[in-house]
Amino acid sequence: MRALYPGSFDPLTLGHLDLIERSARLFDSVMVAVLQNPSKQPAFGLEQRLGQIRSATAHLSGVEVGSFDGLTVDFAARSQAQVILRGLRALSDFEFELQIAHTNHSLAPQVETLFLATAVHHSFLSSSVVKEVARFGGDVRHMVPAGVAEDLTRLFNRTSA
Ligand code: ADP
Repeated sequence: MRALYPGSFDPLTLGHLDLIERSARLFDSVMVAVLQNPSKQPAFGLEQRLGQIRSATAHLSGVEVGSFDGLTVDFAARSQAQVILRGLRALSDFEFELQIAHTNHSLAPQVETLFLATAVHHSFLSSSVVKEVARFGGDVRHMVPAGVAEDLTRLFNRTSA
C-alpha cells in the first residue's frame, strides 16, 4: 500500500522525519509531497525544501519526494496513494485535521486519512517554532536535520546582515 504525506515542510523538522521513518516501515512506499500553497509565503523555496527532504530521507528505501499544487486528494489519485498521512501533535491539531480529513473524504471516499501520533519528544516541534528560534540565533540542531540547520543559519545570517 502506498501513502502520501503532504505538508508545507518549511522547513522539514525531526518531527516530520520521525513520522516519515515510521510510515516507511508501515507502507510499501511513501510519497512525501510539498504542497505549493499560494496563500503561504514560505521561508524556503520549493527546490530547497525538496532538497532538504531528499537528503534527510536518502537512507530510507520506499520513500519518494515530490511536490504538488491543487487538491491533496487529486494528487493522491495521480500518485496512486490510497492513504493520506498526517501527524497529530496535540489536541490543538485535532480540530483542523479532522475538518480536512472529512473534507477530503467527501471529495474522495476511496482515500483514507490516517493520523500518526507524533513522537512525544518531538511533539513541541513545528516549522514555525524552529524558524523563530533560528531567527534569534538559538541552537536548532536538536530540532531539524543537519542540512536544514545549516540552511536556517544561512537564511537568517543573510537576512540580518
Ligand atoms: P501543513 O502546512 O500542511 O500543516 P506542516 O509542514 O506544518 O504542513 O505539517 C505537515 C504534517 O506534519 C502535518 O500533518 C503535521 O501535523 C505534521 N507535523 C508537524 N510537526 C510535526 C512533528 N513535530 N511531529 C510529527 N508530525 C508533525
